[in-house]
Amino acid sequence: MTKRIVIALGGNALGNTLPEQMIAVKHTSKAIADLIEAGYEVIISHGNGPQVGMIDQAMTVYGKQNPSSPTFTPLSVCVAMSQAYIGYDLQNALREELLDRGIKKSVTTIITQVRVDSDDPAFKNPTKPIGQFMNEEEAKLAEKNGFKVIEDSGRGYRRVVASPKPKEIIEIETVKSLINAGEVVISCGGGGIPVTREGNHLKGAGAVIDKDFASCLLAQEVDADFLIILTAVEKVAINFGKPEVKWLDNITVEEAKQYMAEGHFAPGSMLPKVQAAVEFASSAPNRSALITLLEKAKSGISGETGTHIK
Ligand code: ADP
Ligand code: MG
Repeated sequence: MTKRIVIALGGNALGNTLPEQMIAVKHTSKAIADLIEAGYEVIISHGNGPQVGMIDQAMTVYGKQNPSSPTFTPLSVCVAMSQAYIGYDLQNALREELLDRGIKKSVTTIITQVRVDSDDPAFKNPTKPIGQFMNEEEAKLAEKNGFKVIEDSGRGYRRVVASPKPKEIIEIETVKSLINAGEVVISCGGGGIPVTREGNHLKGAGAVIDKDFASCLLAQEVDADFLIILTAVEKVAINFGKPEVKWLDNITVEEAKQYMAEGHFAPGSMLPKVQAAVEFASSAPNRSALITLLEKAKSGISGETGTHIK
């Protein structure tokens, strides 16, 4: 039976700027097309750290230039913009790469909302600074608009945002229909647009969901066999950055948990990936996770490299 893979693309698959992204997606599409050509069903998700920061900053500047209507763009809208802009580049590059290989599959980006709990503790403790520094007046206006602002080490004020856990992918049935129709889907970009539910109304939340956690939920929902997290390192290490560094090939969920408890993985970078890998691999017997470099996706899935968690 066809194996299903959710591929979570990290920052190096997309670049930091508009021109960088145009080039990066070509490279990324080759790695993804290799897996499709090898017969895997592929669902793609991606991060948006630099892009959502850029969009938020651009909208802040826009707000300043239009003082008659000083406007703050909700972060949920910035995430939506980032999904569309990244999806546009990625789906076109992948479409072209597949056509060049004689593979006829459509590639579609789904603007994806992801429900979070309004009482997620992350909302009480937003820690992720984003966007530009503000002066006191701007900070007051931002607070009036409902944002949490912190004074950042004497350098000015900055918005901080929450990073709550993903609970439900709103458009999941659409994603499944498209995959079952043989299409390639890009979903949960930037961790998904965070929303909370108020009856039938979905309300955008001022947060950025970790794409590693959203990808883990997506992979479980589509009943994937593999979750592949493509990042800037070929393997996960213990004693990372130390002389006694040890690169890991195959580890069990129990070993991964022990390494996490021992503090081997940096919060905000490798830790969420290992947590996502552990959660996915323990969710069903047939499921395993792979963390490796973009360029190693294909050799990784055939067991030649990368860190496999099962
Ligand atoms: P992405 O954009 O793919 O999410 P991140 O920068 O968030 O990438 O996370 C990947 C980075 O995590 C690696 O480039 C590496 O510098 C760092 N890292 C932290 N701890 C470890 C570890 N134990 N093993 C490997 N890499 C680690
Ligand atoms: Mg990251």
